[in-house]
Amino acid sequence: MNSSTTTSGLTFDVQLSPQRKTPQERAALLDDPGFGTVFTDHMVTIRYSEEKGWYDARLEPYGPVTLDPATASLHYAQEIFEGLKAYRHPDGTVACFRPEANAARFNRSARRMAMPELGEELFVGAIETLLRYDGEWVPSQQSSSLYLRPFMFATDVGLGVNNPSRTYLFMLIASPSGAYFSGGVKPVTVWLSEDYTRAAPGGTGEAKFAGNYAASFLAQAQAVEQGCDQVVWLDAVEHRWVEEMGGMNLFFVFGSGDDARLVTPALTGTLLPGITRDSLLKLAPELGWPTEEGRISTDRWREAALSGELTEVFACGTAAVITPVGHVKGPGGEFTIGDGTPGPVTTRLREELVALQYGTRADTHGWIRTF
Ligand code: PMP
Repeated sequence: MNSSTTTSGLTFDVQLSPQRKTPQERAALLDDPGFGTVFTDHMVTIRYSEEKGWYDARLEPYGPVTLDPATASLHYAQEIFEGLKAYRHPDGTVACFRPEANAARFNRSARRMAMPELGEELFVGAIETLLRYDGEWVPSQQSSSLYLRPFMFATDVGLGVNNPSRTYLFMLIASPSGAYFSGGVKPVTVWLSEDYTRAAPGGTGEAKFAGNYAASFLAQAQAVEQGCDQVVWLDAVEHRWVEEMGGMNLFFVFGSGDDARLVTPALTGTLLPGITRDSLLKLAPELGWPTEEGRISTDRWREAALSGELTEVFACGTAAVITPVGHVKGPGGEFTIGDGTPGPVTTRLREELVALQYGTRADTHGWIRTF
């Protein structure tokens, strides 16, 4: 076994896969990878126990994990994850967008789920190690990237439900992903969910906790039944304050041209603090559009759309960057935003963010980490 040391001085044991894909096999897989079904040759694993802390950091061949049927996370869902991407820059280097922010969110999720924190160095060191060996899997096609999925789950064996696990496994896997919208950026139709709630005050909504996603599938299925693409979550108490969309945060554009201003639901503890959301709150004012974190009710959304005061709505997140919302449906009826097509503010912000991520615009914020 070899070892690999990251720039931070952390050492990973390295066991290369005997079944690494050939350049030809890899090129065929990268041609049209879709999303989340093709994986690279290796994965990172790091173990935790109360006695040792984090130990046994490895890069090993991608493959199944054997678990005892009584493994705690299979029963009580102590599992958190992150999602970020590695991009191929024009000079051939590989870069991530704000991985330190993902590390910080991972650790906040860990705290909420009574799990140990991993630390930014180890989190970023795991990414550096995987990219060192699987960097060739970062596609160079336009709008493609390597999606990185760090996650951590409880590994204690036993059905006792009163305490958190004392042992954990952190893993990092990577999956090449193609353009999220193969036919270009297409506005989505959203369903305002009044039957189901994603997160309640004091709950787990602001953590990237696996159970939040399990609890969302039925509402998403209802959205699809209603002819919509995505569910929009409302607050748990009054079912009228807009929180976020399936896996993305929402922005509302009031006014137009130089007078446009953006409003996004404030982080009340029940929505996920998106890194794309945070980045746009900083980028939009630089482009001349003030931003505000506030509260939007479904009534205000409808009235402002009908009066023309609300000109654009878009959702934002790592997977699809920025997605325009064209049409809104709910138990009380439906309405269209603007003329239902992507608006100029949405389009401009998308261009700006994509250019930063893909390295065609200078990084003046220190957001790009090259590996
Ligand atoms: N909300 C939810 C529920 C999500 O799963 C995501 C994706 N992580 C987001 C918002 C957007 O977050 P980010 O911009 O960090 O991808």
